[in-house]
Amino acid sequence: MQTVLVTGGAGFIGANFVLKARLEQWANVVNLDKLTYASNLQSLAELQDDGYNFVQGDIGDSALVANLLEQYQPDAVINFAAESHVDRSILSPQDFINTNVVGAFQLLEATRHYWQKLSPQRQSSFRFLHVSTDEVYGSLSPTDPAFREDTPYAPNSPYAASKAASDHFVRAYHHTYGLPTLTTNCSNNYGPRQFPEKLIPLMILNALEGKQLPIYGDGQNVRDWLYVTDHCEAIYLVLQQGKVGETYNVGGLNEQTNLTVIEKICTILDKLAPKSNYLHSSLMTFVKDRPGHDRRYAIDCSKISRELGWAPKESFDSGLLKTIEWYLSNSAWVEGVRTGAYQNWIKQNYESR
Ligand code: NAD
Repeated sequence: MQTVLVTGGAGFIGANFVLKARLEQWANVVNLDKLTYASNLQSLAELQDDGYNFVQGDIGDSALVANLLEQYQPDAVINFAAESHVDRSILSPQDFINTNVVGAFQLLEATRHYWQKLSPQRQSSFRFLHVSTDEVYGSLSPTDPAFREDTPYAPNSPYAASKAASDHFVRAYHHTYGLPTLTTNCSNNYGPRQFPEKLIPLMILNALEGKQLPIYGDGQNVRDWLYVTDHCEAIYLVLQQGKVGETYNVGGLNEQTNLTVIEKICTILDKLAPKSNYLHSSLMTFVKDRPGHDRRYAIDCSKISRELGWAPKESFDSGLLKTIEWYLSNSAWVEGVRTGAYQNWIKQNYESR
């Protein structure tokens, strides 16, 4: 079985990927995570076997990464580690530069030195897979065609700019040094174990507590939504069969306005967790729009479908139901991530509007 160094594996997508990789025996995993506010090791508590190792640390710590690569001799590095929340990137972009740009560069550099010392056979089978976002492509009007892999980059938020920078470094490391890289650019993920600052878990948990459901602007911003395990399967497929040096768009073929997403959540919660005196939709509150809020993202994922045979399996309605059921039955996980710092941040950003 392959050994994979996963970074950011205690976050939302990384944890779902690590769980799948171990429980379905895809790979042995070394998980390097800094354990920022967005992480939760409880997500991985069930992994107790020898095929899983956790190391707390920063992808920007090149000595640590070099040691890990030497010690575990992985067949691949998958970089999930990032600062990932657009609102936070608007308030404090420096963290995004540190991890998403400088950290990703240090990780590439340490990986290059490790890779250059491998045997020719291991060099050719080694992969560096960088997990990125559709936000690097900018914003679409309602009639624009969906983002393709050759759509020019036009990032609009500090988060998107920092991810775009790392994508370019990954590309450059392939072209300049021959490092066998792959990049995936995916749309919005949802599902179990997502930190409750992101739209779907924030709305679920606020609604359960009878708090307001803040909707940016007119609620008509459109996002494409993909269930997280579909994303994890796409990443695994690209790792196994993707063409070195290429990028692959990954999407759910599922464009929804924010308003529709929140209405759907309210309808499901009215059935699963009804309130005696009001409907959850009565908590919906329009708030001042996010600065520079991109209007629409849509992903053309025909390349990964055509070349690798990938397609999303989960429909939005069933995925949303599964997600809400997961949050309803995992209150200990939710409490674990709701630290004082998190509460203060929510207060500062939503409740004072
Ligand atoms: P997340 O914020 O839930 O998790 C990020 C993880 O990275 C956390 O566990 C955090 O502790 C860790 N981390 C942060 N800085 C680090 C550092 N310097 N060194 C090591 N670990 C560090 O993010 P996510 O939603 O799971 O996203 C994972 C990746 O997928 C990111 O690169 C993100 O840009 C990309 N992505 C996310 C989405 C989405 O909808 N969530 C969509 C497309 C792409």
